[in-house]
Amino acid sequence: MSYKRILLKISGEALYNGGEKYDEKVFIDICNTLKNIRKENTEVAVVCGGGNIFRGKEISSTFQIEQTTGDYMGMLATVMNGLALQSFFNSHGLPSVAYSSFPITNILDHYTKRSALSSLKEGKVVILTGGVGSPFFTTDTGAALRALELDIECILMGKNGVEGVMDKDPRVNKDAKFIKKITYHQVLKDDLKVMDMTAISLLKDSSVEIRVFNMKDISNAYSIIKGEDIGTHIVNN
Ligand code: UDP
Repeated sequence: MSYKRILLKISGEALYNGGEKYDEKVFIDICNTLKNIRKENTEVAVVCGGGNIFRGKEISSTFQIEQTTGDYMGMLATVMNGLALQSFFNSHGLPSVAYSSFPITNILDHYTKRSALSSLKEGKVVILTGGVGSPFFTTDTGAALRALELDIECILMGKNGVEGVMDKDPRVNKDAKFIKKITYHQVLKDDLKVMDMTAISLLKDSSVEIRVFNMKDISNAYSIIKGEDIGTHIVNN
């Protein structure tokens, strides 16, 4: 199976690998994997999170900063990650362009569906920062929204420390079982932790698929594009 257009969701956490804000090896691995995916003629969008730098809720609960401000800081963090990825990819032979969902035009072009589609068709990796552009959302919801807008066939969702979706939280339940294939409705019904529920609700009546895989080996994303049955497959029905 080869997809025409995919979206890779990278959490901020995945970029730092437990050390500094960025781990060079992670950047190299992501870049090489995306190069391989592009060689298959699959168009690639990337939505990056910002959790390695700021998460609105965490800041507002530890400091006396209202959540709206914390979320703005989080959105700016996603821009920082997008800038880093754009620059790294371009200097490593992977043509890329980053867009921001809110105006910050000295630094990045403002996202429009038209400009993103045109860059995808030119063969560039399109990095989408700023989530949906409003507080009280997450970049998971940003990924779902952009997937719908940009006719993405499949969201590749890298997770840390798990092979895919589990029926219970494996950190507290030793008997948690891996799920190979599941529908959006079941994910919502069982409150499974895949993406936030706003994102799943947006996708539940669409034809967009999600493939959840272990981000520890980002080349899994390429194997999925090549048709390997890795991780969990989430579908409409
Ligand atoms: N954020 C937001 N609106 C959005 C996307 C993100 O307010 O549409 C803020 C929010 O504070 C969030 C932070 O940006 O915690 C970082 O995004 P996210 O938590 O999704 O990053 P990830 O966990 O994927 O690294």
